[in-house]
Amino acid sequence: MGNKLISFTKKRDELKYRGTTCKNCGHPLELSDKFCPNCSQANSVKKLTLRDFFDEFFASVISYDSKLLKTLSALLCRPGRITKDYVNGKRVSYTNPFRFLLSLAIIYFLAISFNSDFSQLDDYAIDEKASSFIGDNGTLNLNFGDNEQQNELSQVMDSLKIADNILKISERIKKRDSIILSHPTSSFNTYQDSTFGNRFSGKYKVISLLINQKEVKSYSKLLDEYDIEDTNENKIVFNTAKSVSKFSKQPGSFLNELISKLPFATFFFLPLFAIFIWLVYIRKKYTYTDHLIFSFHNQSLLFILLIISFLVDSVFKVDSNGIFITIFSVYLFMAMKRFYEQGTLKTIVKYLFLNTIFFILAGISVILLFTGSLITY
Ligand SMILES: [Zn+2]
Repeated sequence: MGNKLISFTKKRDELKYRGTTCKNCGHPLELSDKFCPNCSQANSVKKLTLRDFFDEFFASVISYDSKLLKTLSALLCRPGRITKDYVNGKRVSYTNPFRFLLSLAIIYFLAISFNSDFSQLDDYAIDEKASSFIGDNGTLNLNFGDNEQQNELSQVMDSLKIADNILKISERIKKRDSIILSHPTSSFNTYQDSTFGNRFSGKYKVISLLINQKEVKSYSKLLDEYDIEDTNENKIVFNTAKSVSKFSKQPGSFLNELISKLPFATFFFLPLFAIFIWLVYIRKKYTYTDHLIFSFHNQSLLFILLIISFLVDSVFKVDSNGIFITIFSVYLFMAMKRFYEQGTLKTIVKYLFLNTIFFILAGISVILLFTGSLITY
């Protein structure tokens, strides 16, 4: 197929079709130039036939494929080598590290969002009616099991005086809620002048009651119906209350959404992480960008291994994550040793330090992502 393609493309760059200026960028050309030295477009004035058009398409796919294969094999078989080649200027034969990592993140993202179906967790949602085992008249609703079991349970609870205390607390909460619900706007406004923490939690209480009990679905409805001032703070309180209410009703969907965002979090913390690599290897000749490329390559390999692990798991119904993470740990050590060319002991110390930093940064990103998801969910 390769030879056939070359014979097709030869026709377009035959001598009789060559021009003296580049059709793409206007750069002056010699008739001996097969390609423009400025933009590398083929030097040809021949009108595109349908055949030429598809030839060009397949030639670009094949050149991308061979780059991809070369990148993959270099990455998999020779830890650290690909980064070394790349930063030393051998670039055209490999795919761009950032694009490579982005593609892998997308593939990994698709894989886990198909797989991790947490929506069955939604069945465990907090159902407010079911969980309130205290009836409207203030008696305990213990409608489970047979009569004997109920009696037994009542006796135990009585003897512990738990029921009494729960009743007292629950009555107080109910009273407070009904006061708030009968005068929502004035209750809301009583918190206006208190300190930030009190104001936020007070407003939050009122708004989440309105969301859960009065079906206030949107921020504009809250403003219109309850005459509440349109401020940034009120909007944040509303969004938080709404997310929490949604989360308690559908915890599984929330987790799905969070996990599907994880691969993209790496793009936020890798640039930060590269600063630490740069500090650890400050005496090496590498620039910040070189360290960043090193971390892109290794993160790409981690994604590849996680994707393989995902495939193995779904075919053989096993849990192979641990094995692949171990492979990665060994790989990373070899990559560091080869790329930075330092002794085993020095590399071990730096390896341990950088891994600690990596986990701290990843942890912070997950927390930020979690908070962000909760507010915008
Ligand atoms: Zn050109």
